[in-house]
Amino acid sequence: MSKSFDVVVIGAGTGGYVAAIRASQLGKTVAVVERQSALGGTCLIWGCIPTKALLEHAHALKVIQQASEWGVTIPSGTPAINMTQVHARKDKIVDGLTKGIAFLFKKNKITWIKGTARLAGPGKVEVFEGDTQTLEAKEIVIATGSSPRSVAAVTIDHRRIITSDEAIHLKEVPKSLVIMGSGAVGVEFASIYRRFGSEVTIIELVNRLVPVEDEAVSTELEKSFKKQGITVLTGTKVAKATSTPSGVTVEAHPPDGKTQTISADVLLVATGRGPVTTGLGAEEAGIKMERGYIKVDELYRTSVPGVSAIGDVITLGTGVHPQLAHVSSMEGIITAERIAGKAVQPINYDHVPGCTYCDPEIGSVGLTEARASERGYDVRIGTFPFGVLGRGRMAGELEGFVKIVADRKYDEVLGVHMIGPRSTELVAEAVLALRLECTVEELIKTIHAHPTFSEAVGEAAHAAHGAAIHM
Ligand SMILES: Cc1cc2nc3c(=O)[nH]c(=O)nc-3n(C[C@H](O)[C@H](O)[C@H](O)COP(=O)(O)OP(=O)(O)OC[C@H]3O[C@@H](n4cnc5c(N)ncnc54)[C@H](O)[C@@H]3O)c2cc1C
Repeated sequence: MSKSFDVVVIGAGTGGYVAAIRASQLGKTVAVVERQSALGGTCLIWGCIPTKALLEHAHALKVIQQASEWGVTIPSGTPAINMTQVHARKDKIVDGLTKGIAFLFKKNKITWIKGTARLAGPGKVEVFEGDTQTLEAKEIVIATGSSPRSVAAVTIDHRRIITSDEAIHLKEVPKSLVIMGSGAVGVEFASIYRRFGSEVTIIELVNRLVPVEDEAVSTELEKSFKKQGITVLTGTKVAKATSTPSGVTVEAHPPDGKTQTISADVLLVATGRGPVTTGLGAEEAGIKMERGYIKVDELYRTSVPGVSAIGDVITLGTGVHPQLAHVSSMEGIITAERIAGKAVQPINYDHVPGCTYCDPEIGSVGLTEARASERGYDVRIGTFPFGVLGRGRMAGELEGFVKIVADRKYDEVLGVHMIGPRSTELVAEAVLALRLECTVEELIKTIHAHPTFSEAVGEAAHAAHGAAIHM
């Protein structure tokens, strides 16, 4: 027997479940096919939530380790982390949030069909879970996401050579950890395990950490990581990694050409994620693909009418599509609204905030100084350090800065890049500033409460006009 819905969404990650809720709010009958035993996808189960929970534990440990600075006396002994309790707390958070999505599905009358979905002809989705059932859909939304991928030289064995999927569950803190790749995932795990007590080496092929960020941010992070005792090898290629019964041996080629051999307990491969489309039948259904990703237009329509795709699994064919939870959710909302006949606008991907929750945190939006220059802007910069602020000193948070990239001609804010305390929260103001095509002058005239970290945004705007008040 087949069941009919207005919309069938494949995948209940942050793209799929948000698309489903929005479509239901707009009066559509909706089913979501998800093969995992919980809803929420990568973000809730393996990504944003468990990693940020671990980072909160690392932060708690940091505060306790620095207790004497706060005048807090700790009875004798060294503060230590108990991984069993850490995982129990983290897993409880994940469990609560995934159940929260199940509750939202009930509230919005969304049918969750557990199983693996495959496109089975126009308007048809087959679902396998023990037996097979066929769903009929006026519209299909593919939101099958991504999974970790390695490079040719390194084979993941999930024991000694692991991905983020295993790194969130390590029962013991490894004595030594090598991390390959310094994107958001790499540097977040570097912060977590360094604080937990591991000897951490981070290897990055490009000549700086967090290569997508503004260069000044990369330099500041490297300075801080080195101060924390993290070994940073940039411009270095991992040529080989071999698992042994007791650990892993990594052969690296640094820029000086001399081969370096590093032994460690664990190698974490954080070199990016690839699209999940195996068994989906996308190509057989005539959907145009590009490098394994599903090709969509600016409103997430695939080449097959009635089939849309959103989130980590897509490419717009215009450079790298950001694999971020909030991007997938916004794409889900736009897709649901388009399907429901509402007028929608494409996303401006220059206005997508990027947050990296390493220590110190990074928040950024818009053009970096280098990219603004490449696009031909007459660039003007304003930078202000957190350490000068009263709030920074009270919190003992003296690292980092806010950097504003602006266009000299029209005074428009083109990008804001920050590294330091609460940067992942402070960036929200910058996102709105870009969305509203704000000028530096408007940011200067925006009153920033005192004493707050947000004063650094206002002061960076003043600095862009050559007139920082407190510097
Ligand atoms: C360690 C880590 C940390 C991260 N931290 C952040 C962060 O802090 N902030 C942020 O914005 N992003 C973060 N991300 C990225 C974020 O998790 C992803 O961008 C986001 O989850 C993508 O959502 P999605 O809906 O496209 O896909 P996914 O969340 O991957 O969901 C896809 C779902 O589809 C299901 N599925 C796949 N194929 C089928 C099929 N054939 N049938 C049925 N079900 C199927 C899968 O089981 C999965 O549940 C992080 C990622 C990782 C790995």
